[in-house]
Amino acid sequence: MPERGNHKTANPPHRNDLDSPETVNLTDPRTLVCKFGGTSLADASRIARAAGIVARMAGPPEAGRVPVVVVSAMAGVTRELLALLSEGGAAPPALPRTLLARHREAARALGAEEEIEALLDALPDRFAAAPSEAALRDAVAATGEDLSALLMTAALRAEGIAAHALDARAVIRTDGAFGRAIPDDETTVALVAERMAPLIGEGTAPVLQGFIGADAHGRTTTLGRGGSDFTAAIVGAALGAREVTIFTDVDGIFSADPGEVPGARILPELGYEEAVELAWFGARVVHPAAAKHAAARKVALRIRNTFHPDGAGTLIRPDRRETPGVAALAHRTGSVLVRVRSRPLFMAHGFLGRVFGILARHGIAVDLVATSHTSTAFTLERPEGFEAARAELEAVAEVEVIEGLATVSAVGRGLLTQPGAAAELFRLLAETPVHLVSQASDTSLSFLVEEGSAGALVRRLHEGLLEHPRQEAAS
Ligand code: ASP
Ligand code: MG
Repeated sequence: MPERGNHKTANPPHRNDLDSPETVNLTDPRTLVCKFGGTSLADASRIARAAGIVARMAGPPEAGRVPVVVVSAMAGVTRELLALLSEGGAAPPALPRTLLARHREAARALGAEEEIEALLDALPDRFAAAPSEAALRDAVAATGEDLSALLMTAALRAEGIAAHALDARAVIRTDGAFGRAIPDDETTVALVAERMAPLIGEGTAPVLQGFIGADAHGRTTTLGRGGSDFTAAIVGAALGAREVTIFTDVDGIFSADPGEVPGARILPELGYEEAVELAWFGARVVHPAAAKHAAARKVALRIRNTFHPDGAGTLIRPDRRETPGVAALAHRTGSVLVRVRSRPLFMAHGFLGRVFGILARHGIAVDLVATSHTSTAFTLERPEGFEAARAELEAVAEVEVIEGLATVSAVGRGLLTQPGAAAELFRLLAETPVHLVSQASDTSLSFLVEEGSAGALVRRLHEGLLEHPRQEAAS
């Protein structure tokens, strides 16, 4: 671990934070919950590096701090596993040779060969036992996390930490909705208390697969893509931790896409609602469900970079006490706008209900919405499948579809209640033609613009609102 020496003299990053006044302390300072994403676990040396970070966070054994580690699959593995099923129909698939080789190589380097081979041996029976295609899909998808948890356990042991791979199926109880299972919080809290807390009590560090759980029949379920963050939030909350650290491959949440906005900077702190809005509108650093769950249970989430572990990162807290104003900008290209105008005969009440009823029947999810008495405009989350709904809509309304748009969103606080913030935004829009304005909460305000003008607009907004705010707008 080349990094290790560099940090030896510095304080372990986490302890630093606990000492600083603006950071929430853990209720039980002995429990340290952290989660590592796929890029942080891409190969044996990265897994070893992650384990080293955990060891530094925990400090010397005398400190008595017990880490709880949640892992994603190695980078790219979940996608590869899911692709197996779209190719091979319903038959239990064999894992690709490259995927096996990659995990075996890591197992050799980390000393986890026996555990990995035992898991691989068990897979065919596991897959064959899946009662449906959907269940098989989740059983297969879960394999990535099953493997990486064993690798991480070995890496932690090499750091001198008493680690134990605790199967997430034994603690994360969900409903039976394969592919997007919803956790049963009450049961999960009880299972964590029964099966995880005693381990921690005796000083053993549980290592848990993110993303997966089991239904009441013990069948493997998954929480949806990116669900490992959610697992970490669930476990942190169940353990009564006040902070959960999400280790990823960026320094934190940026005030705008740094690829597009040269002045973008890391936000030291963010309210959870802002984090959820930002995640939704394009800054996919943390899973929105994780931020929501953490906020509901008063757990702070700290986003930190595995590759710069001494950076402060971004702290997402349930109770950000910041002055109102725009905190960040997000943008997303590929937006499709649909404008629906009622035909004269259908102008009566019920127009909106009818429109959204048709969309719901076709499973069309809308994103931004703006409406007036006789017309409504909305953007589509995904354009697929809209054509069938369009035909039905056209029976009652005129329908216009505009493609090639981008959604630019300002996220912050007081965007509704502090008129100055919104006024400044509109002033900076200047000549940019806007197809739709949408604001449903105090936390975000979104504009739909031509794709080609989005970059310049985001830069102008960032400069005017965050880099050089006008005095009167800032006060
Ligand atoms: N491995 C899963 C995915 O790629 C879950 C996660 O990484 O959060 O979606
Ligand atoms: Mg992720």
